[in-house]
Amino acid sequence: MNWKIPLFDLDIGEEEKNAVLDVLSNGWLTMGRRTAEFESLFREKTGARHAYAVASGTAALHLACSTAGFKKGDEVICPGLTFVATAHAIRYTGARAVFTESRGSTDLNIDPGDIEQKISERTKGVLILHYAGFPCDMAEITTVCKRHGLVLIEDCAHSLFSSYRGEKMCGRYGLCGCFSFFSNKNMTTGEGGMIITDDDDAAESIRLMRSHGMTSLTMDRHEGRAVGYDVVTPGYNYRIDEMRAALGMAQLRKLDERLARRREVYTYYRSRLKNLPVELPFEAQLQRRDTVGIHIFPVLLPRGCKRDQVMAQLRSRGVQTSIHYPPVHFFKEFKNEATRLPVTEDLVERELTLPFYPSLTEKEIDYVVECVAGALKS
Ligand SMILES: *Cc1c(COP(=O)(O)O)cnc(C)c1O
Repeated sequence: MNWKIPLFDLDIGEEEKNAVLDVLSNGWLTMGRRTAEFESLFREKTGARHAYAVASGTAALHLACSTAGFKKGDEVICPGLTFVATAHAIRYTGARAVFTESRGSTDLNIDPGDIEQKISERTKGVLILHYAGFPCDMAEITTVCKRHGLVLIEDCAHSLFSSYRGEKMCGRYGLCGCFSFFSNKNMTTGEGGMIITDDDDAAESIRLMRSHGMTSLTMDRHEGRAVGYDVVTPGYNYRIDEMRAALGMAQLRKLDERLARRREVYTYYRSRLKNLPVELPFEAQLQRRDTVGIHIFPVLLPRGCKRDQVMAQLRSRGVQTSIHYPPVHFFKEFKNEATRLPVTEDLVERELTLPFYPSLTEKEIDYVVECVAGALKS
């Protein structure tokens, strides 16, 4: 479709094109020097001790859950309001995902109180999502995890460079933080991801599992650092390649400026939507002075409003919208879980995601807001 205003917009310039072409001329395509540079810059930006680039955000989440030691018979608490990959990563290890409530219409993130409610003698960990880039309540969540001896993992697919109270980056509160560079994320490599940790043992296990559990890489042997290899753990092929790492470097260099622009777009949007009968979540995060790397723009429509019709009207005026997310516990795959999450279910019935990207102009935002106002009136 030819949208007047799409949901998101790619931001690929000459730097990215040149970076990829340079790799293609250079003769080394699989994980090598550029990947190491990409990881090093990511460590510098996040302050993490270790960072490993991987094939996707889902691969990062799987490595995190494996490193945490989740296994069959265990339960891991995660939000019902997330992308299905969060729950899949838990399932890959054989553990069961226990879906947990969002706080409510002012904060779509996981409810620390409900985390505590959902803990059983089988619970081994908590996997949280910082929805839309707005940090979860890390003071409460880390306290609950400590009190019950649970491993915390952070799905940071939305929260690249967000930090709770402007103190520490999201992804550094838990054992591991998992990032996605999928095409529509705040920075992209097409497909790709990153996993960070401050724990040396976790880092070693992630490094091995990323590449078949092998003790040396093709690059190490090519450069004479190793002759053979041993295999010390059942690993995967979750490697990234040099084209993506180069693309990622170029995107990462622009990211601070792009995130600042996202905040400006968000602030303007928020001011323009204030007088409409929609709810705007995450006031608490703004009050708390979290630094936010905002990924999407969710609004909550009034109860009883027909979202399909609102979306159809916006579509007819060239405005693309979406829903984040159909709740995981509603999918056929998870039907045996038989969970009810009344708060989450109310939120996902009303949630509407508006177009949001750094290059949106005030005029375009005004147009979207006018279309939303029109759709709500009729
Ligand atoms: C995008 C996303 C993922 C998965 O990332 P991929 O890179 O597509 O594997 C996981 N969790 C959430 C919340 C996401 O938005």
